[in-house]
Amino acid sequence: GELPPPGRVRELLIEAHSRYGSVSDGNVADYIPALAAASPDLFGLAVAGVRGRTYVVGDHAVEFSIQSVSKPFVFALVCDVLGADEARKRIGVNNTGLPFNSVMAIELNDGSAMNPLVNAGAIATTSLVPGDTADEKWQFVLNGLSKFAGRPLSMAADVYASEAANNKRNQGIARLLESYGRLYFDPLEATDVYTKQCSIDVTVTDLAVMGATLADGGVNPVTGERVVRADTCKRVLAVLATAGLYERSGEWMYDIGLPGKSGVSGGIITIAPGKGGVATYSPPLDEAGNSVRGQLASKFLSDLLGLNLFASAPVV
Ligand code: GLU
Repeated sequence: GELPPPGRVRELLIEAHSRYGSVSDGNVADYIPALAAASPDLFGLAVAGVRGRTYVVGDHAVEFSIQSVSKPFVFALVCDVLGADEARKRIGVNNTGLPFNSVMAIELNDGSAMNPLVNAGAIATTSLVPGDTADEKWQFVLNGLSKFAGRPLSMAADVYASEAANNKRNQGIARLLESYGRLYFDPLEATDVYTKQCSIDVTVTDLAVMGATLADGGVNPVTGERVVRADTCKRVLAVLATAGLYERSGEWMYDIGLPGKSGVSGGIITIAPGKGGVATYSPPLDEAGNSVRGQLASKFLSDLLGLNLFASAPVV
């Protein structure tokens, strides 16, 4: 299967944007000042197909910090180097059912970081990035995410500064993992690289292309460059399917039927394996930290583009 014809994809994006643009539920993340400054009105949608076509509507050129949407891509880079089994052994691949920054999840599971999409597992993942120094690891991450996006990305210095000044909990998580032998680099340095990684600026269009690269077996469909192996993508998508939407991952799968990942700045990516990536950007979040308009638009698009993995009949 493929995406519907281009005219239809464009029509559905415009429809999703006008349908949900006026929804005003949710609150912009305010735990760091730089995120709290985002306008709640911003709303952009993008689709990228595995044949390299991209479609956009609304605030598609606005840059925002990638936050937790970085996690699957850094995991992909690490999994590609370590191999799927070693990555599972060192990080874990099970859902926690607890908030993304839970310390309890580590304690309840014999010190396991649990999975690469919660903060513990993401910091453990970042600690496994190739490189002898924090700077080498950071350059590897920035370069790798740029390949996924198909253009050179850079860090939002204000978001990084704001988040680095409010980082005690993540530093604590890193130290706790270290005490269990589950962190593979200096805890403060690993947390710092993780914080930089969360501060990388992207547009919703970048996110769609990044998602489409996972949908396309690791080849960026716009640049044609192979970023990771096909086996790696399969593993990343499996973890996304179980843990991509914080503690609402079950509900997300129930509604949307596709692997996805959200972040506190208001981005969500959805991946339709073999077809493409869908991305949404709208800062107001629900209590679990997922973009309200983004979830609505993702559901609409997954249904009407015929992407739900569990649907046995095509959409008519
Ligand atoms: N940088 C954020 C943190 O670690 C990421 C939060 C998120 O998007 O879930 O707190």
